[in-house]
Amino acid sequence: MHEKAQYRRVLLKISGEGFCPPGGFGIHRTELDRIAGEINDVVNLGVQVAVVVGGGNFMRGARFASELGIDLATADYMGMLATVQNALALQEGLERLEQSVRVQSALSISRVCESFIRRRCIRHLDKGRVVILAAGTGNPHVTTDSCAALRAAELNAEILLKATKVDGVYDADPKTNPDAKLYERVSFNEVIDQRLRVMDVSAIDVCQQHDIPITVFNLFKPGTMRRVILGDHLGTRVCSSA
Ligand code: UDP
Repeated sequence: MHEKAQYRRVLLKISGEGFCPPGGFGIHRTELDRIAGEINDVVNLGVQVAVVVGGGNFMRGARFASELGIDLATADYMGMLATVQNALALQEGLERLEQSVRVQSALSISRVCESFIRRRCIRHLDKGRVVILAAGTGNPHVTTDSCAALRAAELNAEILLKATKVDGVYDADPKTNPDAKLYERVSFNEVIDQRLRVMDVSAIDVCQQHDIPITVFNLFKPGTMRRVILGDHLGTRVCSSA
């Protein structure tokens, strides 16, 4: 096993579902501590970590809009506020582990956290602080996956780490198809052409344009993210050439 981190700065995307047991709602202590612990282990390797958090454990705009019959943009703003709750909880979870953390929100909520300012964010990262990016892009009609790709590009992250509850990218749904095959490596073009479920197409497009590899890995297998950062070939790597 390698001992040296292969990346200086990474962008981690954690979906809201990482904050609660499968199929659950809201934030649970065990899951919160697990996420914080995994991030803590990576920061302790000397890696700069920016985290984009989703909000699906509370709500997703599209579903809420149709269920309540409200405007999609309004529901999306509500979804963005849900991500702020996860961000604040994760901040506390990391502080319990004595990490230095800042939350920066794309929607300004100045009594609660900083606003996202690129140069300020980079300064925090350079000082070794974890920066949790809340409220997605601040725009409706997109998801936190797209946000993660955009922030990876503007923060010059060397890799986008997409935490999931499965081992990586499969050629079929592993939950319903026991023969589903896990890809070790797959190209951006293959992901788009074969409609592989990795991230939104717009997120893939941004990563392809900026040549930022994505590693999809299992958040629920302890130590996986750390090992990916140390250069082990775990999960699925999505990059320019398969
Ligand atoms: N959202 C948005 N703009 C963004 C990011 C998120 O409108 O830039 C809203 C959208 O309604 C989305 C919700 O916030 O459904 C929660 O984010 P997401 O679905 O990406 O969370 P995840 O699936 O990663 O938990």
